[in-house]
This record gives sequence, structure tokens and C-alpha cells, in this order.
Amino acid sequence: MSEHVPGHDANCIFCKIIAKQIPSKVVYEDEQVYAFHDINPWAPVHFLLIPKVHIPSLAQVGGEHAALMGHMMALVPQLALQEGCNPYPDGGYRLVTNTGAEGGQEVHHLHFHVMGGPRPWLRG
Ligand code: 5GP
Repeated sequence: MSEHVPGHDANCIFCKIIAKQIPSKVVYEDEQVYAFHDINPWAPVHFLLIPKVHIPSLAQVGGEHAALMGHMMALVPQLALQEGCNPYPDGGYRLVTNTGAEGGQEVHHLHFHVMGGPRPWLRG
């Protein structure tokens, strides 16, 4: 069953995931954000945290998004532990936001990659 989401871009694959038009393995959901497992994980733990509103990348983030960004950043440590990352400092995780073509961004809906778990897995 798909859901209507304000700020939805009908051509965006992550908006379709938020709207449940494309299935995903949910990590967390609330009114503002959605988190789900990456389909092609780089690490033992690899999930994506995205805003429900369609923001193409970090390049479009401004002061009006400060509360949303703070909410997302505060969720990262909570969700990383929930998903099996080991605690800081011996464990930890990597937070990545690819931005634009030269930043290696493939999906143009802002997303935070959270990657962790026992090494070796780091690339780049
Ligand atoms: P980017 O290169 O834009 O930073 O990362 C996009 C990420 O989205 C990639 O790691 C890719 O594996 C993931 N991805 C792309 N399409 C899908 C999908 O349909 N489902 C899920 N779960 N992940 C996806």
C-alpha cells in the first residue's frame, strides 16, 4: 500500500521508497525521516538515513533545514548501535554524504550513509 508524502518527487527512487512504492528493509521511521538498509552494502552494517521531504543533496540544505539536520544527526549514533555497530571508541562507524557528480552522488535525494561493523571493509 503506497502512502502520500508531502514534498514527494514522483521521479525520485528514494521518494518511492518512502512512499512504500518500492520495498525496503526499514531501520527507523518517523514523521520527518526514514532509514533503510542499503541494497548494495559496503560494510557489515550499511544503512541510509534520509529526510522524507525531497532535498536533492547537501548542496540544497540551508538554515531552514537546521532542525531537520539536527534531528538526523542525533539519530545516527542511536541507529548505528541499534543496527549492530560496536560502541565508540573501539567500534564506531563512518558517516558519508556524497554530494554532486564529483562527490560520487548517484541518487539525488539527500542521504546519509552509515557504515560500520568489524573491519576490514573501509574503501575510499
Ligand atoms: P550515492 O552514490 O548516491 O551516495 O548512494 C546511493 C546509494 O543508494 C547506493 O549505496 C545504492 O546501493 C543505494 N540504492 C540505490 N537504489 C536503491 C534501492 O532501490 N534500494 C536500496 N535499499 N538502496 C538503493
